[in-house]
Amino acid sequence: MSNPSILILPGDGIGPEVMTEVRKVIGWFGDKRGLAFDISEDLVGGAAYDKHGTPLHDDTMAKAQEVDAVLLGAVGGPKYDELDFSVKPERGLLRLRKEMDLFANLRPAQCFDALADFSSLKKDIVAGLDIMIVRELTSGVYFGEPRGIFKEGNERVGINTQRYTESEIARVARASFELAKRRGNKVCSMEKANVMESGILWRDVVNEIHQAEYPEVELSHMYADNGAMQLVRAPKQFDVILTDNLFGDVLSDCAAMLTGSLGMLPSASLGAPMANGRPKALYEPVHGSAPDITGQSKANPIACILSFAMALRYSFDSGDEATRLETAVEQVLADGVRTADLMQAGDASPVTTSQMGDAIVTALEASL
Ligand code: NAD
Repeated sequence: MSNPSILILPGDGIGPEVMTEVRKVIGWFGDKRGLAFDISEDLVGGAAYDKHGTPLHDDTMAKAQEVDAVLLGAVGGPKYDELDFSVKPERGLLRLRKEMDLFANLRPAQCFDALADFSSLKKDIVAGLDIMIVRELTSGVYFGEPRGIFKEGNERVGINTQRYTESEIARVARASFELAKRRGNKVCSMEKANVMESGILWRDVVNEIHQAEYPEVELSHMYADNGAMQLVRAPKQFDVILTDNLFGDVLSDCAAMLTGSLGMLPSASLGAPMANGRPKALYEPVHGSAPDITGQSKANPIACILSFAMALRYSFDSGDEATRLETAVEQVLADGVRTADLMQAGDASPVTTSQMGDAIVTALEASL
């Protein structure tokens, strides 16, 4: 049987820098844990535009559809700011998400003890935090029709439409319940059923899926505005939060920053299962290409490395190895190893991107 396959798309700016460290980690799992992958690498974003005049070549798109998981660094940068909208680097990423139909965006908010001081909230409120936001990613108000800016009488009117079908709600609800079963067994669904019909349908469908397929999972509902308040008041009450595209956009950013630096945040975007049972999947750090620190060996590779941990867990049925990697990251942070973004007054000097990658591999080695 062939090895599982990964397409690596380092992208622009610090993307290639952090991806070099992920490759060290992937190499370690191949050498020491018998987890060998068939790795291919290609261009996306500005790097693809420079070579092909498009931010995602059709051949790359076709490869992404075939592999078991795509791992992406970051796209964009000032060099491409003046390009036409249709060929901007970000369009490459949007095309991947759209054509792979990645409808469930998973954003963990996890607070490593060593970084609890980084949160803007009190340490006891965030220490040990481990929640997962599941955001519907391919429908809702960002895609609904009609949309546009129209003339009405003598003024303009801007229109976007919140639209969800039952099947769109059902599939992301299932993804959330499945996740909850592997975690704390609780889902809190957030919408605005008090003022939006799409919210009423959302709540109905989530209840139906729950009763018919996942009665053993604890389900609660919350209006999204209250959800935002609860996230900063008492975030540890949550396990999995299920929400739509618009509310998820806001709530996931809010939850993520409970835990500190942008350089720490991984994500996964999952679609329907393929013939081999694995979901279509794209893993990427939440951060962008960080042009302000590109080429200076300052980038924190942890977000991208933790994205690979998510791949181990959700694409490659290797939850124990994902935990091993997350524990290695936690150990390195507890030992005081810090890239520049994680420094606080009084800390020793920061390590480079490559030194952080090496420290994580050393911690993995020590875990054996
Ligand atoms: P950004 O995430 O690139 O950077 C914001 C700030 O966080 C910067 O100060 C940066 O130095 C810092 N930072 C980000 N990642 C870091 C890391 N791993 N280690 C240390 N510090 C880190 O966001 P931005 O500056 O708004 O955008 C820069 C470019 O990235 C733009 O072209 C934007 O469109 C693009 N972008 C891409 C993605 C993506 O590829 N998914 C996401 C967001 C932004």
